[in-house]
Amino acid sequence: MIPASFEYRRAGSVEEALGWLAEDPDSTKLLAGGHSLLPLMKLRLATPGVLVDVGRIPGLNYVRDDGDHVAIGALTRHRDLEVSDVARGHVPLLAHVAGQVGDPQVRHRGTIGGSLAHGDPASDLPAAVLALDGTMVVDGPRGRREVQAADFFRGFLETALAPDEMLTEVRVHKAPAGWGFQKFNRRAQDWAIVGVAAVVNGDARVALVNMGPTTLRARATEEALDAGANIADAAARAAEGLDPPSDLNGSAEYRRHLATVLVRRALEEATAARG
Ligand SMILES: Cc1cc2nc3c(=O)[nH]c(=O)nc-3n(C[C@H](O)[C@H](O)[C@H](O)COP(=O)(O)OP(=O)(O)OC[C@H]3O[C@@H](n4cnc5c(N)ncnc54)[C@H](O)[C@@H]3O)c2cc1C
Repeated sequence: MIPASFEYRRAGSVEEALGWLAEDPDSTKLLAGGHSLLPLMKLRLATPGVLVDVGRIPGLNYVRDDGDHVAIGALTRHRDLEVSDVARGHVPLLAHVAGQVGDPQVRHRGTIGGSLAHGDPASDLPAAVLALDGTMVVDGPRGRREVQAADFFRGFLETALAPDEMLTEVRVHKAPAGWGFQKFNRRAQDWAIVGVAAVVNGDARVALVNMGPTTLRARATEEALDAGANIADAAARAAEGLDPPSDLNGSAEYRRHLATVLVRRALEEATAARG
């Protein structure tokens, strides 16, 4: 498993990375932790001509209390998020989910920016950010823009990022109470067969891992809760309208059933945590 040849460049700043991206956006890729991109390159499912290593750009690894929200730099490693006092205090869902990603080696290398930009429906952090109604801060040649998580995940490995843009920060509202996370897998370090991130603070937001081509909200469940249904009845509708994948870990039908069970558990957890 040897990747196709490529040119390697190490960026010292966001501006430098964006400049190199702009030269040939379609055949240039940013490299952060490399834990999603390098496996794809080894399988030759990705064959970028230029790899721009952003992993050592200073000042993009932080978890900051910004008043009504928490700001997380795109190069923040999963492990740093997991143990951050700011995250644990103000968005414990995010700190908890970061601690559930892969194994310690993956958590010490992988970044939140890479996880969100990759757009893998099987990833855990995108569901947490979607449930928290987060905002992505994106820099590019046309300046800076903000994209709501609800508009960010577009399809399989597809996000709202243009090929010449870089995700630089993620912002999430403080949500200390009322959260639940369920990840069902066979071994502790595995990817989720199905996962659920739920936030219940007034209204309820329920996001699903591995239940379709991208990270999704369980809209039927949310609508049922809005209409006054109890948790069990609302959770029974978790897979409505969704088309989950079938693979070696489980059939689509199995995933649909799992989603109803895990959504119920996540909502019960969130409701109990809210008190
Ligand atoms: C063995 C193993 C187990 C894993 N288990 C899990 C798991 O259980 N749950 C889970 O959620 N994930 C899991 N992962 C994935 C892991 O979390 C990755 O680290 C993460 O998905 C990608 O982050 P990265 O920093 O490594 O990104 P990279 O691999 O460096 O990049 C991924 C993609 O995002 C792009 N990119 C990276 N940073 C940016 C940026 N700032 N702006 C724009 N584009 C960018 C790259 O160009 C590339 O296309 C696992 C990975 C491995 C290898």
